[in-house]
Amino acid sequence: MSSPVLSMHGVEKSFGLFRALGPVDLELMPQERLGIIGPNGAGKTTLINCITGVLKPDNGSVKFEGIDITVQPSFKRARLGISRTFQIPQPFRGMSVTENLLVPLDYLHGTANKRRRAAEVLESVGLSARAAHPSEDLSQLELRKLELARALVGNPKVLIADEAMAGLSEAEIDEVLAILMKLNQQGVAVIMIEHIMHAVMRFSQRIVCFEMGQLIASGTAEEVTRDPKVQKVYFGEQAHH
Ligand code: ADP
Ligand code: MG
Repeated sequence: MSSPVLSMHGVEKSFGLFRALGPVDLELMPQERLGIIGPNGAGKTTLINCITGVLKPDNGSVKFEGIDITVQPSFKRARLGISRTFQIPQPFRGMSVTENLLVPLDYLHGTANKRRRAAEVLESVGLSARAAHPSEDLSQLELRKLELARALVGNPKVLIADEAMAGLSEAEIDEVLAILMKLNQQGVAVIMIEHIMHAVMRFSQRIVCFEMGQLIASGTAEEVTRDPKVQKVYFGEQAHH
């Protein structure tokens, strides 16, 4: 048995008197594909923010490869190998696609040939043809790919995709899923937060469901879909009509 790449114990986060998250216990194994589902406001992004260092939890601990990173700043976590995409793509305006990758590469250090690394990553997400174009020219799908590329330049061990497929067509969703699957096969553990159920179900080896800051179910896609607590969250309203 290998040990988890990421582990959270008793993680809690409140905004004022409102507890948005926790306490949560959750582990991610190396090269695992974990899906996180739950309605809007369930605390999914707050959890990711506690993992990546955007937020400091009020209680509990976050460990990466056994090292306590609970209070480490984001850039240190990024250098360790935790990377994420944002729900709303945030490219640097007025810069080319390649330049958008050179910025995080500068920030991460350690990469000898930054342009070559940028080209490599653009190739892996299928954006090579757009390398010299300004980010303003990109389609929704291409923006999502750039968002992924920016998360990948530092060779992360854990990639967190926060609603990376919102607004895409079925064919485009398949394309993003294929990119994530390929990365996973190359050894990256992936956390997929997603409202597009068939995508997250197809992708994930394990799924956890959050509601009101609590982890209410965990299992395979089939197990979670059948879980009465999950059904209540997703179908409870209709059932009362
Ligand atoms: P999800 O990603 O599952 O939709 P979030 O983690 O974004 O949910 O939000 C969980 C809850 O915490 C929501 O009720 C949201 O309004 C609240 N919340 C999130 N971030 C903040 C913040 N910075 N300040 C105040 N409330 C917040
Ligand atoms: Mg969210």
